[in-house]
Amino acid sequence: MTKNYENNPIIPNTDWKVHDQIRAQPEIVVPGSLCELPSVTPPSDATVLFDGSNTEEWVHVNDDRPCEWEIIDDNIMRVVPKTKNIKTKKSFGDCQLHVEWSAPTEIKGEGQGRGNSGIFMMGDYEIQVLDDYSNPTYADGLSCALYGQKPPLVNSSCKPGQWHIYDIIWKAPIFTDDELTSPAYVTVIHNGVVVQNNYKLIGRTTHMDLGTYAPHPAKGPIWLQDHGDLVSFRNIWIRDL
Ligand code: MG
Repeated sequence: MTKNYENNPIIPNTDWKVHDQIRAQPEIVVPGSLCELPSVTPPSDATVLFDGSNTEEWVHVNDDRPCEWEIIDDNIMRVVPKTKNIKTKKSFGDCQLHVEWSAPTEIKGEGQGRGNSGIFMMGDYEIQVLDDYSNPTYADGLSCALYGQKPPLVNSSCKPGQWHIYDIIWKAPIFTDDELTSPAYVTVIHNGVVVQNNYKLIGRTTHMDLGTYAPHPAKGPIWLQDHGDLVSFRNIWIRDL
């Protein structure tokens, strides 16, 4: 559990503090058999970011060195702890992003320490990746939460070892002369279930605090987080909108 969250700020337009331990937990929705199906190929106009063959579309965030995450079982990219976050070489604005991921079947850790990774839109705005199947944690830190801001509408997570499917529809924020003129909006479909419905972000992702907007270019890379857990990814593609 998060320490000292009582001192965290209230999230605007809610009754809850950032990482509030007593914020209502979303209802659990069993996502059906989708998580047990094999992966399918991307649509014809998608930019493929990972198809299992190599990690050439990715570099590490801080120093642009080639991606050191490993490819296992021929088509899966897995976090190598302590190598740190990776990002796409290409940049994106408004987009549809498809990501599939899986948590280790060997259960290790609890709360935010179990199967934690994340998808950072434009490097700034995290859509949480977490093994939250029978793993309580604060609501704004669950899978598909806008971390520290907005829990998912329901918890439609599948079991460790199964494949979560994220379909993210992203509307990038707009800055005009370094002033925010339109915030970011995001819709997330998790294993076929809408869990974020055109949510208006209050700012970039932070921990224990309220994020604000800081001007950035109209396009930015997608980041994947190394949170120290052996989270696997497959079939990552994106379409410009
Ligand atoms: Mg994370």
